[in-house]
Amino acid sequence: MSPFAHRATAQLERNDGLYVRWDAGNAWGTPLLVETMSQVGTRMAWLLPRSEPLMVGDMSSRGGGPLFGHKTHDTGEDADVGLYLKGGRQPLDGFVDVRPDELDLDANWLLIREFLDTGNVHFILLDQRHIEALRKHLLEERGYPRDYVDEVFPPRGAAIEWSAHGVVRHAPNHRSHLHVHVQRAADLL
Ligand SMILES: [Zn+2]
Repeated sequence: MSPFAHRATAQLERNDGLYVRWDAGNAWGTPLLVETMSQVGTRMAWLLPRSEPLMVGDMSSRGGGPLFGHKTHDTGEDADVGLYLKGGRQPLDGFVDVRPDELDLDANWLLIREFLDTGNVHFILLDQRHIEALRKHLLEERGYPRDYVDEVFPPRGAAIEWSAHGVVRHAPNHRSHLHVHVQRAADLL
């Protein structure tokens, strides 16, 4: 694959009322990432009309390259996204660590599902405490089968195939937002 396949050549456009960009200068990505963010931002506005618009944090700078404060976000394939808090709130003033009991679990599950449904998402990073809260909610309150929940949220310590697609994994420093990494399944083969 050409290195240019991962360049941040597209910018997520301003779309008031649908989603909010934290910094337009860092709202660049591959066309696949931009398409994914635009699609999910629009879908969430339709699905949760009474919630605040989805907060899109840093993606990449124009063309990509190292981005201050991030280990990744250099290839145009990563985006940080706000978590839904109770009361339909999004962290529109910036990402702040939240406790699992502050999360609107149904809204965040909807958000994760929308991302996975695009078929473009390789993985999502989130703090394990939030993952556990979502797992428990889906299993105990919403009656999802364990196999399905285990597939989307592999249990802690589970061996994950490097090519596993569409999974939510633990990463430290992800108590305030979701980190989405896109890559089409076919690109992984
Ligand atoms: Zn990130």
